[in-house]
Amino acid sequence: MELIRAIREAGVVGAGGAGFPTHVKLDTSVEAFIVNGVECEPLLETDKYLMRHYAEELIESIETVAEHLGAKRKIIGIKSKYKREHQALIQAIEKTQSTIEVKALDSFYPAGDEQMLIREALEETVPPRGIPLNVGAVVSNVATLLDVQKAIRGIPVTERVITVTGAVKSPTLIRVPVGTAIKDCLELAGGVIPSDFSVIMGGPMMGAECKGTDIDKTYVTKTLGGLVVLPESHTIIQRKRLPYQHIINRAASSCIQCRMCTDLCPRFLNGHPLYPHKVMRAVGNGEASLSAYESALLCCECGVCELYACPMGLSPKTVNQRVKRQLMEGGIKLNLNKDEEWTPHEMRNYRKVDTHRLVARIDLSEYESVHLEDVVEFLPNEVHISLKQHIGRPAESVVSDGERVEAGQCVAEIPESSLGARIHASISGIVSLMPDGIVIKKEGEAND
Ligand code: SF4
Ligand code: SF4
Repeated sequence: MELIRAIREAGVVGAGGAGFPTHVKLDTSVEAFIVNGVECEPLLETDKYLMRHYAEELIESIETVAEHLGAKRKIIGIKSKYKREHQALIQAIEKTQSTIEVKALDSFYPAGDEQMLIREALEETVPPRGIPLNVGAVVSNVATLLDVQKAIRGIPVTERVITVTGAVKSPTLIRVPVGTAIKDCLELAGGVIPSDFSVIMGGPMMGAECKGTDIDKTYVTKTLGGLVVLPESHTIIQRKRLPYQHIINRAASSCIQCRMCTDLCPRFLNGHPLYPHKVMRAVGNGEASLSAYESALLCCECGVCELYACPMGLSPKTVNQRVKRQLMEGGIKLNLNKDEEWTPHEMRNYRKVDTHRLVARIDLSEYESVHLEDVVEFLPNEVHISLKQHIGRPAESVVSDGERVEAGQCVAEIPESSLGARIHASISGIVSLMPDGIVIKKEGEAND
């Protein structure tokens, strides 16, 4: 329980994107602890850097967490093509006489989806609408575990290593305080090349677009691992901007029901009853029966159907995403046979989406060969720290306007009896309270 308390106090959340509070996730016992070192989103280099440079710290953290979980198996999943990272991990394992297994995976997308990783590492299928605990597993990613390792030493989460790549002059890795302005991050990569551009927050497959004046009002959070700059004319950006009614009209007029979206869907191939082609048909035909839409609840929004599979350039992921949200808001549950055994499709191994081909398909080849080695460090004069960087309720500020805080000091607490995560000052300075966050300015900058 000491470990859980330390993780809670340090404000650790899943750094892989979801932001689930780690002290809640790890407060359990399991058979298997799986570490996600796959970094399956194209172009991102953050986790590879962390594995190369902090392999021993990572192994130490995995051992500590696995012992707490009572896990008999400890497995790190990485891609077999990550040779240097593999070597760094093996060296650290040997040096520490650890019993952690390294599972080398093919280079496919989305190998880092936790259900895909569990399938690869344990040959188990997480049941539909289930979680890894249902098969006796917990999955954490590399950056989260390094935050755990710091938490054990009393160091809170105040910084992130981020890949800044795509249409920037000097793609780079940066280490910046949480709350650093995105526009500063882009400058650290030499600035943006195209005059009309957009930024994907995270990876190109699943990241959200940040555009126009929003870029000036967006800041680094605990869950940010990458910034991918693309010209506005890029197909990924154009696809993200299609109006939903246009997407529906295209589904109605152009979906040829070839079912490629379903046949290549990773969750379908894992054995889940998810049929995006049926959802597209239902949406296109305006079907009234709820059962035609329900399988959308199983979609993990990986984007394979939309950016890779569909020969007609339609948008089944966006449709599934929208339908899923509506079903969840309406409290609709999927009717599943609880006794059913979920087994992978017999063609699963032959239908994995090769990452290199995916990159070519989504027109990112020109950025693919960039491999980042060094980290640029940056300390801004001002940070804007959001109170909602995690799943659960926003943190509640415990500092006042004008107060001086030290880097690492807790500035926002978890609301009582709620799911959430603490927030800490990422630089020292003077606080200004905002409706949804805390601004800290270095002294001397406060009245600028
Ligand atoms: S792949 Fe495209 S065209 Fe084929 S069924 Fe799916 S949405 Fe329709
Ligand atoms: S986004 Fe498409 S491919 Fe991915 S899980 Fe959802 S339906 Fe399947």
